[in-house]
Amino acid sequence: MEEIILIKIGEIVLKGLNKRAFEDVLLKNLKNRLHKAGSFDIKIAQSTISVSPKDENADIELAAEIVGKTFGIATFSRACTAKKNIEDIQQKAVEYLEETLEDAKTFKVEARRSDKKFPMTSPQISAQVGGYILEHFPHLKVDVRNPEVTVTVEIRDFSAYIRGGVIKGAGGIPVGTGGKAAILISGGIDSPVAAYMMAKRGVELTAVHFASPPYTSQRAEEKVCKLLEIVSAYAGRMTMYTVPFTEIQKQIKDKCPEELFTIIMRRFMMEISQRIAEDKDCTALITGESLGQVASQTIHAIACTDIVCSMPVFRPLIGMDKDEIVSISRKIGTFETSIEPYEDCCTVFTPKHPRTRPILKYVQQAQDKLNCSELIENALADLKVTRIGYGDNKF
Ligand code: ATP
Ligand code: MG
Repeated sequence: MEEIILIKIGEIVLKGLNKRAFEDVLLKNLKNRLHKAGSFDIKIAQSTISVSPKDENADIELAAEIVGKTFGIATFSRACTAKKNIEDIQQKAVEYLEETLEDAKTFKVEARRSDKKFPMTSPQISAQVGGYILEHFPHLKVDVRNPEVTVTVEIRDFSAYIRGGVIKGAGGIPVGTGGKAAILISGGIDSPVAAYMMAKRGVELTAVHFASPPYTSQRAEEKVCKLLEIVSAYAGRMTMYTVPFTEIQKQIKDKCPEELFTIIMRRFMMEISQRIAEDKDCTALITGESLGQVASQTIHAIACTDIVCSMPVFRPLIGMDKDEIVSISRKIGTFETSIEPYEDCCTVFTPKHPRTRPILKYVQQAQDKLNCSELIENALADLKVTRIGYGDNKF
């Protein structure tokens, strides 16, 4: 029995003239991603994408998992194909949905016919297939209002399809339709969620991570790679640039007032990230900041860091509570890794009493004591490049 996946596209159907371009990106993303699950034929017709295995090696389970993490998809379902005659359709319906129908008490059949040449009307198909199911599963009752299982039969141009339940897709819009941005990624809970949220709005990601060896370990950096690998199942492949940050942090510690340490460090992070972003054709930065969560995330502190950037900085978590962020983190599967106890450069040399209302003039004066441009150039000259989502990183 041939099983396929039928996909209903989401928000992109609303995009008027851009619809074609959005569909093309979604198809390209699906093609790239499904490669991992084997060889599939991916076609679009009447706003439905069908994914059909080309041979026996194609892994439909894995394909369904990949489809479930691809943005731009509202719902999808697994379906089996049948010949376009009623005998084959009813027989396949009983075989394909056997387990589901065994366990259910009520059901209904919904038929749709986009091929109007098919010799039966939709109500006739529903009645016929419904009757056949009742013969084989006499414990079932038909309930047209609130059935436990809806068996959908679709008669399309080349084939008939039978499906059981509909699965909710990842929503959003296809990655690659919303431009490119650089995510400042730490090993914490927040930034992987921020990355996921912007990818959901179609943004292609490049990642920037700051590491301060020997204060931060190789394991801490691996943890960040691992988080990005999980995010890349949604966001697609990306490159991570690791910035050596030790010297900058040491200089700040030696030459700047302790209470301004974090804010100055964050200004460096933003400036360096912007330089990398510009170089990699990104037009925005993304952070996992949430208003008031820590001293460097007050309105005053954010004002002092934001000002070093000329490109937009997206902070998709800005209005969210920690428990809301945690629940997304659990949903996308990053939480368990985020809570592994490795140090981050932000936790190296943390001041006891950071300023929650830093004044820009004093922050600038303090930072002027450092040779900022040289520090930044040196850091940029020594970036480490890691590919994410290509299967090269083993943990
Ligand atoms: P997270 O859970 O994302 O680490 P946080 O609540 O710990 O966030 P901070 O440590 O103040 O908050 O970091 C705020 C944001 O700054 C992070 O969400 C991330 O975007 C960025 N950031 C923090 N540390 C790093 C780092 N080592 N490399 C790159 N970006 C970082
Ligand atoms: Mg952090």
